[in-house]
Amino acid sequence: MNYRHSFHAGNFADLVKHALVLWLLDRRRATGPVTVIDTHAGAGVYDLSGDGVRSKEAEAGIARLMAANHRPPLIEALARAVSELNPHGGARLYPGSPLLIARRLGRDDRYMGFELNPPVLELLTAALEPFPQATARGGDGYDQARAEAAHASGALVLIDPPFERPDDYQRAADTAAAIVRADPRAMVAVWTPLKDLETFDGFLRRLDEAGAKRVLVAEARLRPLTNPMKMNGCAMVVLNAPAGAEDAARQICDWVAGTLGEAGAKAEVWTA
Ligand code: SAM
Repeated sequence: MNYRHSFHAGNFADLVKHALVLWLLDRRRATGPVTVIDTHAGAGVYDLSGDGVRSKEAEAGIARLMAANHRPPLIEALARAVSELNPHGGARLYPGSPLLIARRLGRDDRYMGFELNPPVLELLTAALEPFPQATARGGDGYDQARAEAAHASGALVLIDPPFERPDDYQRAADTAAAIVRADPRAMVAVWTPLKDLETFDGFLRRLDEAGAKRVLVAEARLRPLTNPMKMNGCAMVVLNAPAGAEDAARQICDWVAGTLGEAGAKAEVWTA
């Protein structure tokens, strides 16, 4: 396992994912207590003065977001979450999905984050320690998420693999579809990179074959998808998206593509 999210924390793709997760969580919490299941949780929080400086990804992402003059409401909500974590200013600490979510839980909500890499699991456990409603668990997130979601009516599930294994697309699609088949009230958001359209289309086809219908696809492309060796953009794919999700996703993807993108950048939000 070579993937280290600390090199990528706070990049444009985290901004798309985290701004939409915040909105989905608010919407889901408005209907009653929620169980959030994070299949690939990571470390929980990232010190951007470490690996992030070397990669410069946060500099091109969250640093530009925090410095922007005009932020639409859902981008502003993410800026606020980052500011809360940095009460003395700046954005040295960047919240991963676990901390972003745990800080917003009510008394009757629950969060469980799965992490396969033992040293990262240790960091996650420490980051979640102040939050009694949140737990860090070891092991494979795909399998455990299916089992947990089946017990938690209307769970919000985030599937955010590193895509370093060839079967990650397949397992992400099969897990997402199985969760909504078992509980039609569950809401599942899958993050994917956008390198080339063939791979992404294959992922959407797999979801369709597994029975997932009316899937919201939110793409932020930083540049045309001409070089498949590069992460040219990213997508959030949401099963059982709540009303208003299309507008929310458009607001986020438009801002990210328009502000952080290169020539030929574009946002596309549609239903597959
Ligand atoms: N969701 C996190 C966030 O938004 O802050 C980032 C997660 S990062 C993209 C992916 C993480 O999944 C890595 O920390 C990696 O060690 C972990 N991982 C890889 N395969 C896994 C699996 N099968 N089950 C659980 N965790 C896994």
